[in-house]
Amino acid sequence: MSNLAILGGDAVIAGPLPPYRSMGERERAAVIEVVESDCLSGFFGSPGPRFQGGPRVLAFEEAWRQHYAVDFAVSVNSATSGLYAAMGAIGIGPGDEVIVPPWTMSATAMAPLIYGAIPVFADVEPDYFCIDPRAARAEITPRTRAIVAVNLFGHPAALRELRELADERGIFLIEDNAQAPSARENGRPCGTIGHLGVFSLNYHKHIHTGEGGMCVTNDETLARRLRLIRNHAENAVEWMEMDDLANMVGFNFRMTELSAAVGMVQLAAIDEHVGRRQRLAEALSEGVRDLDGLTPPPVRDGCTHDYYCWTVRYDVETMNVSRQTFSDALAAEGFPHSLGYVPPLYLLPLFRERTAIGGGGFPFTLTNRSYGKGLCPITERLHEKEAMVFQPCAFTVDDEVTEKLAEALRKVHAAAPELAAYDREKGRAD
Ligand SMILES: *Cc1c(COP(=O)(O)O)cnc(C)c1O
Repeated sequence: MSNLAILGGDAVIAGPLPPYRSMGERERAAVIEVVESDCLSGFFGSPGPRFQGGPRVLAFEEAWRQHYAVDFAVSVNSATSGLYAAMGAIGIGPGDEVIVPPWTMSATAMAPLIYGAIPVFADVEPDYFCIDPRAARAEITPRTRAIVAVNLFGHPAALRELRELADERGIFLIEDNAQAPSARENGRPCGTIGHLGVFSLNYHKHIHTGEGGMCVTNDETLARRLRLIRNHAENAVEWMEMDDLANMVGFNFRMTELSAAVGMVQLAAIDEHVGRRQRLAEALSEGVRDLDGLTPPPVRDGCTHDYYCWTVRYDVETMNVSRQTFSDALAAEGFPHSLGYVPPLYLLPLFRERTAIGGGGFPFTLTNRSYGKGLCPITERLHEKEAMVFQPCAFTVDDEVTEKLAEALRKVHAAAPELAAYDREKGRAD
């Protein structure tokens, strides 16, 4: 009889992995202190000192600014809000184009749409999964206003090259840095290489405040515009001396004092929170290094990787086992993961049906761009055939379990001939 769990043997890891826990005594004390102050938010939506938030929001922004060595840090209530505010701040409008990668969380591509602008998808690099500068360059037109680079899974996009491209063409580089809060490219922190960077502090990220986000920039005007959009811009444009009224129609994207207090504690421990995920991911990469057919995530020269996700690229030709069967066998051993990440965003119903703002096709009525299968073949191949994705951020994993996760990968890999037979029984090909 087989010892594979999928065929009735014992699983390498018994029971589900415990969820990641990151709230400790210090967060607890910080929250209690805010509750006792009775002021859960310090914002006012009208001109005056409280337009910029309460004391903990201001302190958290200052800590963030110093940590990332930027001129301005503007807190928001999510990275999604931050991306919306970023698009508003750079002044995009209906019919403008914003180049985005298709393999990312959906908010990256929704942000331009909110302002009636058109997301244009540029394919990713096959090794690093981030927007390919050559593909981005090929999509630039006179209508292009920005490129959004996503430092996907915690690995830096080719940021320096993208920044040079943006500067050369007089457009903005925005970083969606939700997944790479400590990653670096050529010594510089991700999020600070573009004109504007957006971080997420949602529950699933390396450090979090439940919900939350932070925008960083070295541009004073962009910072002022972000602060306005965050908090009912229309009421405060004159007070903030903002002459350019484009997109000065504000939201409420304000962070609470509770979130800021927790964020302070989390930021102080960021090296520990990120380091734990890095050690786990590096051990897994080591564990599969010599296994043909499984390629762990490479790290580009001059870069560091935060491992929001740890990936393997699966080579079905070498393995001679379908990715689905390999994945099922791995899951049966107790190794949680997903096949692929999210489907390429241009396959979402709103692009397929060309319906976003209102029911009349706006803003797609303003473009001849089309969306459909085949648009970004590398992303499609990675998602549909090659990638298997594990989320170190989701679990608490000690050294012993790390060993077992690697062992599960090796066990299933070694059983390829048996799994090939299983495939034949199931009539599976890839
Ligand atoms: C999580 C995430 C977001 C959205 O973050 P929220 O804070 O939940 O709005 C945006 N982009 C990427 C790449 C993300 O991973």
